[in-house]
Amino acid sequence: MADCIFCKIAGGAIPAVKIYEDELVFAFLDIGPINPGHVLVIPREHHESASTIPETTAGRMFRVGARIGIALKRLDAYDAYNLHLADGTAAGQVVMHAHLHVIPRGVNDQFHWNWRQIAYADDAAKTAMAEEIQKHLHLD
Ligand SMILES: [Zn+2]
Repeated sequence: MADCIFCKIAGGAIPAVKIYEDELVFAFLDIGPINPGHVLVIPREHHESASTIPETTAGRMFRVGARIGIALKRLDAYDAYNLHLADGTAAGQVVMHAHLHVIPRGVNDQFHWNWRQIAYADDAAKTAMAEEIQKHLHLD
């Protein structure tokens, strides 16, 4: 897509610090890292949503992301990593070209996910929610 910053990065038109590339994906350092070594893995092909990425490419993104996570765990500063993908503005997606975050984590890194945890009213509410999701789930 002509005006997409991540398409330009994958195509080499905008410089980035490359970590890995192959025919399907491109991985580079996030310029605003949560911790140093924070990497983004993107499909070469433009997709706004992860849901439209072909399965082979999506699988490669996950595999490369996890392998980069293992590499980060081998660094002295880190013990773990998070894989994170925001799909949609309300989820925090800023660049509208799907990207998988690989976030290196150390036990004392002071970063905390701000998950909001709520309780279901009862088991019926859980079942109703599961049925709603399944009704709208299409894997083709
Ligand atoms: Zn793009």
